Amino acid sequence: MTVVEQQRVQVLLPTSFGAAYDYQVPDHLTVGIGQFVKVPLGPREVVGVVWQFAADSKVKASRIKDILEVLPVDPLPEPSRIFVDWVAKYTMQQPGKVLRMNMSAPDALYPKAPKIGYRIASAAPSKMTSARKRVLDVLEGGIARTASEIAEIAGVSTSVVKGLEKIGSLIVVDLPAEEEIPEPDNAKEGMSLSDLQQSASDILSSLVLKNEFSATLLEGVTGSGKTEVYFEAIAACLAEGRQSLVLLPEIALSSQWLSRFEARFGVKPVEWHSDLSQGERRRNWRAVIEGRAKVVVGARSALFLPFPELGLIVVDEEHEASFKQDEGVAYNARDMSVVRGQIGEFPVVLASATPSLETLVNAQSGKYEHVKLPSRFGGATLPSVTIIDLKLHRPGAQRWISAPLQEAITETLAAGQQAMLFLNRRGYAPLTLCDACGHRLQCPHCSAWLVEHRLAGRLQCHHCGFATSPLKNCPDCDEVDSFKACGPGIERLTEEAQILFPDHNVAMMASDTVTSPKAAADFVDAMTNGDIDLLVGTQIVAKGYHFPNLTLVGVVDADLGLAGGDLRASERTFQLLSQVAGRAGRAEHPGRVFLQSHMPEHPVIEALTKQELDVFMASESEARQGASMPPFGRLAGIVVSSLESESVVSFCRELARTAPHGDNFLIMGPAPAPLSMIRGRHRFRFLVKSAKHVNIQSIIRKWLEGKKIPSNTRLQIDIDPYNFM
Ligand code: ADP
Ligand code: ZN
Repeated sequence: MTVVEQQRVQVLLPTSFGAAYDYQVPDHLTVGIGQFVKVPLGPREVVGVVWQFAADSKVKASRIKDILEVLPVDPLPEPSRIFVDWVAKYTMQQPGKVLRMNMSAPDALYPKAPKIGYRIASAAPSKMTSARKRVLDVLEGGIARTASEIAEIAGVSTSVVKGLEKIGSLIVVDLPAEEEIPEPDNAKEGMSLSDLQQSASDILSSLVLKNEFSATLLEGVTGSGKTEVYFEAIAACLAEGRQSLVLLPEIALSSQWLSRFEARFGVKPVEWHSDLSQGERRRNWRAVIEGRAKVVVGARSALFLPFPELGLIVVDEEHEASFKQDEGVAYNARDMSVVRGQIGEFPVVLASATPSLETLVNAQSGKYEHVKLPSRFGGATLPSVTIIDLKLHRPGAQRWISAPLQEAITETLAAGQQAMLFLNRRGYAPLTLCDACGHRLQCPHCSAWLVEHRLAGRLQCHHCGFATSPLKNCPDCDEVDSFKACGPGIERLTEEAQILFPDHNVAMMASDTVTSPKAAADFVDAMTNGDIDLLVGTQIVAKGYHFPNLTLVGVVDADLGLAGGDLRASERTFQLLSQVAGRAGRAEHPGRVFLQSHMPEHPVIEALTKQELDVFMASESEARQGASMPPFGRLAGIVVSSLESESVVSFCRELARTAPHGDNFLIMGPAPAPLSMIRGRHRFRFLVKSAKHVNIQSIIRKWLEGKKIPSNTRLQIDIDPYNFM
């Protein structure tokens, strides 16, 4: 750490409005770059990070305030600081806003107060009571605990503990302030790898040992053992004494992944996601910055943890859209992982069975290494895929399971195996309307229909969370009990499955029914133990699960994601359905997949049946190239929104009037966003499209320079957007 000689430094504050501000270092403090310091900001005191020397500051000395305090925590490591500036520049956000993502556990900036504990001393109590005995039992073997822990476990009050200390049966000891983080054991024997897995793992491990930047696509069909392979790269990184980070799309639901990690390394990894308690966040953040957390597994936000010694990032299911954040600092954790690897000079591994076109193109052009696992582990075969043409096999009225699919499920269940129905739609029905007048129920705050969730007894908006009780009377024509459900959601599909298979256990799983890590783990157990015969689920069941006895997957509406014409609609549908299909037949019994479709000749459906990932991606690639769309061109979305529609319209008009023109870029819009209102905000969109080599940020910066955004209006820039709604 370079200690600052100058007495004036710039401190970056984790606020959304500014860059770094000048502060004076008082004589009694020594301050280094990266240190967390407390400074005055107007009437408040704020914690920020010393960003750099204030070389030739133009601010008058009399106006500069003193740093108040240097916080007792390690400095924000240099790679993290470089990363903050990089991400801020790329996403066109203030660095303070990105810094805030690094400071997501404010309590962790202070060490824990040392705790006092109790341990058994030699003097046995002359008078033994059952309460005293229970206390001594809890502390048997010489362990030390706090009085409140002892009281809780022994079921006594803390006065019993203190009484035992008074008579010399317990002694007071200092407990370590920070909870220990158990270290993963890289030397523990892993699974014995197949030859293919071994050579893939050798390549990754040797990249780790090189201690330099590289990006590798680890492409392997579902069930090929990608996880086992990248575990060996983590083992190599551990052996080097460096930290590893694994990003998973649904970490809170990944109990199977966590168990596998524990089986390989003997302990659980450190987790980072929104389901942690405040205490866990504090502990884990502190363990990361002190280098005690050797392996972290987390959601996209884990990328902003203050790793001093990061030596590897693995992005599992790298194609997943959930790595993209599209509000605030709109970043893609997959892309930013590669940037972080460049800054920290270490390898980044992107793993997927169905890589994104962006990554595939980088691998094909040689920018990324490409490691392949072309077959399933242990002789398991890929499932067969069959299309059911819904024009020929029409299910009955208010039914969605066709005869051939029903028959296949019957066979599977009769063989004692499990089946799964996939429909990517939460709730009972996507649409609820009045049978008398056709009135539809709309969210009062969004331009979206309300979705009936019959189990919860509510109508819900999937965009803002608004919920209301089902209506008795139609608000338009006043007809009573006239609302009718149109189309299936998974609740309705579950009803149908229960009617068709009354003697079997049918279970449903969606993000609103499985809401905690515990619920997800229970679900996994129920599947593994065979308590569930037929599972009905949304995309949440498609993610990485391994159920050996699941041999049939029925996709109820394979066309669902193809409508809408979003840039990635085909690619995303292909990936999702491949992922779903990949759940079938992962062990000794071969799997079967049925796709119900109205358009069997659609290229996506055809590619799925033939399982021709390469052919499909090649044609997708060609189409994008022809249209100069990503990854062959660049896009940026700009959403202008306000509670007052007039403000949006007039501000957009001004933006349109001053929009620049050029040969290698195009600014389209403004147009009302497809979701023209969310949470009461009126929304308009611009789309900036440019050639690949063009600095799209600089075009936008120049365009917006000097524009005053009205105070009631918000302007959200989204570089490389995934969401066009
Ligand atoms: P993928 O992530 O490629 O879909 P996984 O890593 O989940 O594949 O592996 C699929 C299953 O095969 C898992 O249950 C895993 O434990 C098992 N498996 C993979 N490789 C081996 C191995 N070398 N030895 C034993 N089991 C393995
Ligand atoms: Zn709403």
